[in-house]
Amino acid sequence: MSKHCLNCPRSCERDAATGFCGAAEVVRCFRHRIEYGEETAISPSHLFYLSGCNLRCDFCIGEQSAIHPKTGHPLSRDFFEQALAWGRSRGAGNIQWVGGEPGIHLAFLIELMNATPSLPPVVWKSNFYFWPETFELLRPCVDVFVADLKFGNNACAAAHCGVNDYLDVVCRALLKVYRHDPRRLIVRHLLLPGHFHCCFLPVVDWFARNIPEALFSLRDGYVPAGKAKSDPCLRHWLDAEDAANAKKIVAERCRRVA
Ligand code: SF4
Repeated sequence: MSKHCLNCPRSCERDAATGFCGAAEVVRCFRHRIEYGEETAISPSHLFYLSGCNLRCDFCIGEQSAIHPKTGHPLSRDFFEQALAWGRSRGAGNIQWVGGEPGIHLAFLIELMNATPSLPPVVWKSNFYFWPETFELLRPCVDVFVADLKFGNNACAAAHCGVNDYLDVVCRALLKVYRHDPRRLIVRHLLLPGHFHCCFLPVVDWFARNIPEALFSLRDGYVPAGKAKSDPCLRHWLDAEDAANAKKIVAERCRRVA
């Protein structure tokens, strides 16, 4: 294994197992369940939550399970095939890789998907903090990409997930997927308390100007969690008026809304 992991733009000066995300050779699933409340196009979906993340946002609701790559059951072929059968029997229309961040396990997941007969349609939910080439590799085995576009500027991203180039990296990756097929891209934005002007408005503006044929999905279910509980803005619940305004703005500016 290389001493410099270049799998994502954090470009850790160590191997993945000791790098920021700690992605180990044994990929682990800390939960799998059917979700009925996803966007209509992908619901009901069988979600596989994999531990380990390359961003670790202050407000992550997965907290320790999502962050620590040694949490959960090893994602062996047997485990996966049994879980698939369970999901099918409960009517799931697809499987969905979520995290943590599934991108840190890219090579493993591609190999697993390629080795699985009768694989259902695949949804890839990601923070999109990856190189554009990552999405080239995923394209043959992924049907729908769900991107979490969290911040509308680099300063908020630096403050809450510790990277300085957030927007540049994520927007480049979004454009890569969009140019290939806009209809395979869903962009979620979780409204954050106190981030209406600095994050929500720039996100909608960028979306409407650059990737208008993708599906915009506004999320207003913010819950203060983790380090966010001690942040002056993020420790609050969402303001109902902000949420109503945001919905109105999205309906006015975005062509395709979930
Ligand atoms: S995938 Fe993990 S170890 Fe590799 S560069 Fe990104 S954060 Fe660092």
